[in-house]
Amino acid sequence: MKFQRSPLQLTLLYLLAALLWLLCSDALLLGLGLDRDHLARYQLLKGLAFILFTGLLLYCVLRQYQHQQLLIRRHIKHSEERLTLALDSAQEGLWDWDMTSDRVFYSGRYCSLLGYTPEQFGNSRAAWEERLHPDDREQAIQRVQNLFEQRTPYYEGTYRLRHQNGDYRWLLARGQLLLDEAGQPLRFIGTTVDITQRRADEDSLRQAAAVFDSTQEGVLVTDRHQHIVHVNPAFNRITGYSAEEVLGKTPVLFKSGRHDRAFYQSLWHALEQRGSWSGEIWNRRKSGEVFPMWQCLRSIHDESGNLSHYVAVFSDISALKRSQHELDYLAHHDPLTTLPNRLLFGERIEQAVQRAQRGALLLIDLDHFKIINESLGHNTGDQLLKLIGERLAGSLGKQLTLARLGGDEFGLLSTDCAQAAQASALAQRLLECLAEPFSIQGETLFIGASIGISLFPDDGDSVEQLLRNADSALFRAKSSGRQTFSFYSQDMTILARQRVKLEAELRQALEQDQLRVYYQPIHHLSGDRRMLGVEALVRWQHPERGLVPPGEFIPMAEDSGLIGAIDTWVLEQACAQMCDWQTRGIELKFVAVNVSSRLFSRGELDLQVARVLAQTGLDPAHLELEVTESAVMDDPDRALELLQHLRNLGVRLAIDDFGTGYSSLARLKRLPVDKLKLDQSFVRGLPDDPEDAAIARAVVTLGRSLGLHVLAEGIEQEQQARFLLDLGCDFGQGYWFGHPQPADQLLPMATA
Ligand code: C2E
Ligand code: MG
Ligand code: MG
Repeated sequence: MKFQRSPLQLTLLYLLAALLWLLCSDALLLGLGLDRDHLARYQLLKGLAFILFTGLLLYCVLRQYQHQQLLIRRHIKHSEERLTLALDSAQEGLWDWDMTSDRVFYSGRYCSLLGYTPEQFGNSRAAWEERLHPDDREQAIQRVQNLFEQRTPYYEGTYRLRHQNGDYRWLLARGQLLLDEAGQPLRFIGTTVDITQRRADEDSLRQAAAVFDSTQEGVLVTDRHQHIVHVNPAFNRITGYSAEEVLGKTPVLFKSGRHDRAFYQSLWHALEQRGSWSGEIWNRRKSGEVFPMWQCLRSIHDESGNLSHYVAVFSDISALKRSQHELDYLAHHDPLTTLPNRLLFGERIEQAVQRAQRGALLLIDLDHFKIINESLGHNTGDQLLKLIGERLAGSLGKQLTLARLGGDEFGLLSTDCAQAAQASALAQRLLECLAEPFSIQGETLFIGASIGISLFPDDGDSVEQLLRNADSALFRAKSSGRQTFSFYSQDMTILARQRVKLEAELRQALEQDQLRVYYQPIHHLSGDRRMLGVEALVRWQHPERGLVPPGEFIPMAEDSGLIGAIDTWVLEQACAQMCDWQTRGIELKFVAVNVSSRLFSRGELDLQVARVLAQTGLDPAHLELEVTESAVMDDPDRALELLQHLRNLGVRLAIDDFGTGYSSLARLKRLPVDKLKLDQSFVRGLPDDPEDAAIARAVVTLGRSLGLHVLAEGIEQEQQARFLLDLGCDFGQGYWFGHPQPADQLLPMATA
C-alpha cells in the first residue's frame, strides 16, 4: 500500500519541483539579462542539469525499490521454505481454495500423498471430491458445506481419498475458512496428513483391547520387576482376584506350592533363553483352591531391545482334566461294577510283568450264571454281578487288582503271590467268599465259580500268554467239576489241591480235637542222669492217615495262619499238664514248648503266654519257651525286645536247633536266654565224626562261656551221651532217654 501512494506523491513532488525549477530558472536567467547566445547556452546547460539531476534521482529511487524487492523476495522465500519444511517434516500436504477463482492449490506433498504430481492431480475442487471414498463422500462434502453455511472458522475432517494405485488412504484435513469484509468466504486453506497407518494401528489396538477384554483366557502383564501392571476380566474370573487386589503385586501370590525349585528354575531359564515358556502349572485361586492351568509366558522387549514386560496368557484346565480323568475312568472301568475292565486289567498285568514282579493271574468264571440271567431276568443278573464285585473287592487287599473282564468273568491280579501255595490259598478264599449266599430282592441266590490260575513269569511273560494260559486252566477247572481252581501246570494243581484239602482238614482237626501233645523227656547228662523236664511236641491224630508228625503240617499251618491257634493250644495243654504233674507230686523243673517263628515275629506272644499262665495257674519258672535260632536272628532287635518281655514274665528261654542258623556272637551275648539246644544234626555223627565233634565242642564251649546251659538233642546212643558229658554239656534229649509220648505213657505212675 505504501508503494501505491508513494509513486503518486513522488510524481507530484517531481512535477512540482520540475515546474518550479523551470519557472524559477527561466526567470532567473531572464533576470540576469544575458544575450541570446548566452541565454540559449545557459538554458541548454540548465536543461542538461535538470535531466542529469532527475536521472540521478530516478536511478536512486529505482535502486532503492529494487533493493526492497530483493529483501521482500528473500523474506518470502525464507518463509516459504520454512513452511514447506514444516509441512514436509509433519508430512502434511497443503491445500488452498480460492473462492473468487474457484481454483484449489494442492501442494506437491499433498499430491504425492496420493501418488500424483500436481499436474496429474488437478487444481479444482472436483479433483478432491471425485477421489473421495464412496462411503465417505457424502459426509465429507456435507461437512465442508456446513462450514461455509455456519461460517465456523476452523475445520477438521477425516475421510478416505483414492490413491493413484487404486487404494484408499485415510486423510486427516485441518483448515481455516477466511472471510472477506462482507463476511463471505474468501479462502479455505489448510493441511492434510495421511493417517492410514495410524488408523490401522488404532484399529489393531482396538481389536487387541477387545480381544484382551473378551477372551476366555486370563491375561496378566507384569513389568520387568514382575510387578503386575495389567490383568483382564478373564483373569478375574479364573483366579477370583480383582484387578485392584493384584496390581503392583507379584505373581508369587498365586503359587500353589506344588512345584519345586527346579520347576521354576527351568521356567525362567526358558524365558531367558527363548523368550517364551508354555506348560502346565498349578496355581492357587483366591479361595485357596489349587487348580491346573495351561500357561504361555512371553518376555516383551522395547525398541532398544531391553526387557520391559512379561505377559502371561493362561487357561483354566481343571474342567478339561476332570473330563479327561472321567473319560479315562470310563475307558478303563466296567460301568456296572465300577471295577477295572479288561483294558486296565491288561495294562496292570503288563506293568507287573515289565517290573519283573512275581505273581498270579486268576480268571474267575461264575458257574451257571446263564441260568440266573434266563430264569430271573437280566436285571437280577446285573445286580448279582454288582454284589459279587463288591463282595470280592471287599475281601481282598489293596495289592490286588480285581477286574470285570466281561459277562460273568472276573480277573484278579496279585503281585503278592510269590508261590503257587499263596495263589491257591487266594483262589480258595475267593471260592469260600462266593460260597456265601447272595440276597437280591428277598431272594436268596447261590452261585459257584471256577478259577483258572497262571503264574508269572513261570507260565508266560506277556499279557496275552498269561491270559490264554489262565483261560485254559479255567477250562480245566470247569471240566473237573466246577467250584474249584486249576493251575496252568497240572502238577501244581494237584499239589495245590492237596494242600487246600489238608488245610481244611487241619482246621477241622483243631475244632474236632484231633491234635495231641506228646512229651519227650529231658535228662541230666551227669550223675544219675535223672529226668529234669519235658518238651511238648504236637501230633495230629488223623482219622485216615493215623498219627501225623509235626513236620508234615506245621509249615502249612504257618503259611495259612493256623499256627497261632495250634501253638496256643499246645501251650495251654502243656501248662495244664505241668500243673497236673505238680499236683500229683512229680518233680519236673520245666515243660518246654516250641514257639513258631511266625508267631515270634508277629509280637503279642508275651500277652498270649501271660494269659495262658494266668489261666492254668502255672508258675512261670516252670515254663520254658523254645525259639529257633533263625527266628531270633531274622530280626535280632525285635527278638531282643520280645525275649525281654517274655523274660519279664519269669519264663525260661531256650534257643532251639542251635548251630543251624547264623548267630552273631555279639547279639547272642545280649539275649536274655538260659539255654542253647544243640541241633540233633550235629549229634548224629558223634562221637566219631570229627566235624560234628568240633561243632559240638564249640557250641558247648560257647554256651558255657556265656553262662548258658547247653542241651544236646537227638541222643540215640550211650556213647553220644558220654561224649557230650565229657565236652561239658549239661543236658540231653533223644530216643536214648525216651521217645516223645503221651503224658500218661511217659509218667504212668503219676496219671494212674
Ligand atoms: P524240635 O523242637 O527240634 O524237636 C525235636 C524233634 O526231634 C522232635 O521231632 C523229636 O521227636 C525229634 N527227636 C527227639 N529225639 C530224637 C532222636 O533221638 N532222634 C531223632 N532222629 N529225632 C529225635 P518232632 O516231634 O517230629 O518235631 C519236629 C519239629 O516240629 C520240632 O523240632 C519243632 O520244631 C516242631 N514242633 C513240634 N511241636 C511243635 C509245636 O507244638 N509248635 C511248633 N511251633 N513247632 C513244633
Ligand atoms: Mg523244640
Ligand atoms: Mg530242635
